Amino acid sequence: MVGAGHVEGNAMREVRWSVLASAVYGGLAVLGAGLFALLRLTGAFDDPEAVTAFTLLGIAVDALLGTWILVLIWTYVDAERRGMSGALWSLLVFLLMFPIGPLLYLVLRQPPQGACPGCGRPVDPSFTNCPRCGLALKLACANCRTVLLPGWRVCPTCGAPARAQPTAPASGPGRA
Ligand SMILES: [Zn+2]
Ligand SMILES: [Zn+2]
Repeated sequence: MVGAGHVEGNAMREVRWSVLASAVYGGLAVLGAGLFALLRLTGAFDDPEAVTAFTLLGIAVDALLGTWILVLIWTYVDAERRGMSGALWSLLVFLLMFPIGPLLYLVLRQPPQGACPGCGRPVDPSFTNCPRCGLALKLACANCRTVLLPGWRVCPTCGAPARAQPTAPASGPGRA
């Protein structure tokens, strides 16, 4: 039943985001309609063509502005979930504008806290391997199974040389 809980969590998240999206788009639409009603009082929108133009413009602004607001909220939530500063990142994405801000965030964001960098599923900090995809989360000494931290060259318990972590991309000089 572990999988069911995971699916349920995703469904809950989707429901929450749907409610939030409806609130943002709906709120903007109400604001736009209110503004339109006010402008009509001035008599500026008696022309049917102007009414059509303003309605289409309102829908376009609602869609763009609403999506932009949701992107900023999502950036905040996603950054906080990953142990990064949500306020700082949403501000940065806002200042850099679309598409540079969101793209920069997607490139620079860190993997979620307590999640497997391979498959994104939640993993316990004590796990050595991801139980779902098998990715090595920590390196264990081949000789005595002591957990080794990244960057350690020898095992502190038995002195055996630590092998390169199999999950790390090969960036250093490769051995033939
Ligand atoms: Zn995994
Ligand atoms: Zn060892």
